[in-house]
Amino acid sequence: MAAITMKNIVKKYGDGFPAVNDVSIDVADGEFMILVGPSGCGKSTLLRMIVGLEDITSGDMMIGDRRVNDLAPRERNLAMVFQNYALYPHLTVFENIAFPLRLAKMPDEEVDRLVRDAAETLELTEHLDRKPGNLSGGQRQRVAMGRAIVRKADAFLFDEPLSNLDAKLRGQMRTEIARLQRQLGITTVYVTHDQTEAMTLGDRVAVLKRGLLQQLATPRELYENP
Ligand code: ADP
Ligand code: ADP
Repeated sequence: MAAITMKNIVKKYGDGFPAVNDVSIDVADGEFMILVGPSGCGKSTLLRMIVGLEDITSGDMMIGDRRVNDLAPRERNLAMVFQNYALYPHLTVFENIAFPLRLAKMPDEEVDRLVRDAAETLELTEHLDRKPGNLSGGQRQRVAMGRAIVRKADAFLFDEPLSNLDAKLRGQMRTEIARLQRQLGITTVYVTHDQTEAMTLGDRVAVLKRGLLQQLATPRELYENP
């Protein structure tokens, strides 16, 4: 069974041309799926429908074997890693990562263990007592991923997470996201307009154009048959 199944997904805003037009994509368990295409092709809309931030006009959105069309975002157990990281500036790195566990009233010892394990994986251990304002952009991104890891989300969703970074940091972060995704084996859907990012990060790449799925292939297949 696929981790995420998009079946004949359509999104219309008003009565114009559909922003997403009959798109079907299966994301396998643990797969790194890229949604790529020029501005306005519908990739953010599609991501927002997966996470539940946008209503689906028609089609079926499945997470595992659950149809989630009518479920609120918090009922979908997915982790959207936002471009602006959505960290709490007054809380330490530790408490930022722990936040969803505190909400769930998890006992302190268990919180401690989960947060320290995630920090280890993310190489954030020595920064646990700092506040987000004192961290680099890359470190902040990792804190946001840490929060998703501890609450054991079924998938990571990224919407152009690197587009505000300079070229050097973007390259570093790209490598790091790829490393973490493989290490964690977590299903990932990643939106970008950047061809290089698409070709270097993805297990498979879904190419969108004006709301239509044009190609769905591995980077190698796309190189050989562009
Ligand atoms: P991308 O992420 O590929 O840049 P979007 O998904 O943001 O594309 O947008 C796809 C199309 O839908 C565009 O034509 C955009 O103008 C339109 N669109 C996106 N959001 C809305 C909205 N809230 N209301 C009306 N049209 C929208
Ligand atoms: P980005 O391309 O960085 O995702 P956009 O400027 O496309 O940002 O969209 C920003 C917000 O505006 C999104 O919430 C999107 O849904 C909304 N939006 C985009 N296009 C339209 C549109 N034509 N009409 C109304 N809202 C839109």
